[in-house]
Amino acid sequence: MLFAEQLEPGRFSIIDLSVDTETGEHAHFERRPEIHAAARNAFFERTRHDYSRFNHVGEWHSHPSFSVSPSAEDMSTMLSLVAAGPISFAVLLIVRLRFGVWLDYSLTLFARGCLPQAMRFRRFVHLI
Ligand SMILES: [Zn+2]
Repeated sequence: MLFAEQLEPGRFSIIDLSVDTETGEHAHFERRPEIHAAARNAFFERTRHDYSRFNHVGEWHSHPSFSVSPSAEDMSTMLSLVAAGPISFAVLLIVRLRFGVWLDYSLTLFARGCLPQAMRFRRFVHLI
């Protein structure tokens, strides 16, 4: 899960995330909110339940060996999240480390009643 602070209307800063070490496979993403409940609850405690300013804004996972474009399963999962979930929009961040020197990532915005909007990026990374 990705957690953010709303800086102004329509502008967010991702300030925390949770990591699922129990589920997921090399080529399979399954959204399991119960796995992230402790991280989500801790985030809301830390931000004093100020949901209008600090909230869950999406999901992230890696595609270690294939394109960072969302899979059909990714699209279905995120469309269901915004269609029927407690949030009306969410982003999906997918990352892939390439050859240990650059990071490919995509960011796709899903909003209730709208078509997904995708962006792709590549950034060099500095490994320690
Ligand atoms: Zn995926």
